[in-house]
Amino acid sequence: MLPKLDVPIYETTLISNNQTIRFRPFLVKEQKIFLMAAETNEPKDTINAIKQVLTNCVLDDIDIENMATFDIEYLFLQLRARSIGEVVNLRFNCNNNVNVKDEEQKCGNLVKIDVNVLEINPTRNENHSNKIQITDKVGVVLKYPTFGSIDTNDLDTQDMQQILNVIVSCIDYIYDEEQVYYAKDTRKEELIEFVENMKQGDLEKLSAFFTSLPKLKKDVHFHCDKCGYEEDITLEGVQSFFA
Ligand SMILES: [Zn+2]
Repeated sequence: MLPKLDVPIYETTLISNNQTIRFRPFLVKEQKIFLMAAETNEPKDTINAIKQVLTNCVLDDIDIENMATFDIEYLFLQLRARSIGEVVNLRFNCNNNVNVKDEEQKCGNLVKIDVNVLEINPTRNENHSNKIQITDKVGVVLKYPTFGSIDTNDLDTQDMQQILNVIVSCIDYIYDEEQVYYAKDTRKEELIEFVENMKQGDLEKLSAFFTSLPKLKKDVHFHCDKCGYEEDITLEGVQSFFA
């Protein structure tokens, strides 16, 4: 029998519940999963590949299907850092307008910014709460969106129907003075009706839960060495950290 190759084990902490997670770096067999997903160029395949790789590499019991989207993104960022490298070399084209022979045009210089992804800490909003009191008697408890429960594009939408879809899929339970009504035991139409009968201000209270979710964010300094343009920019979301 051939010798087994030792792999290091790393630890990280989930954002939602501070649970410590142990994982190993991804290996050639996991790279193959990513390459196959990249060939189809479908976001769904990428998410499935990420889930599969996390299932392979995480050594503790985790429930990927019910994990908050930002936990998965953070975990994946940690995993990628330990597998490929901590530093991501990002490239931006300088958008500054410059004068060339009396004509305005974009500078276009390629600016390199290196980001250490292990230095990215999730932002937490102090006012973030999953329990939203609607009236004196009635309130809603929300759960974090997961890749299984929502279309993640809907999180950034302004479209009313998609906002309602996200809210309804993330209701954990509704309560009044007497009892709790679990969403899983309630028909979807009833949940939609409940949300549709809210006042605008109450809907905004629910929406605030989603806009204040923990985010992966990093401020970097952009400096163009060709035209001298400088700007502080904020990178946000896991996709910002892939070159
Ligand atoms: Zn420039």
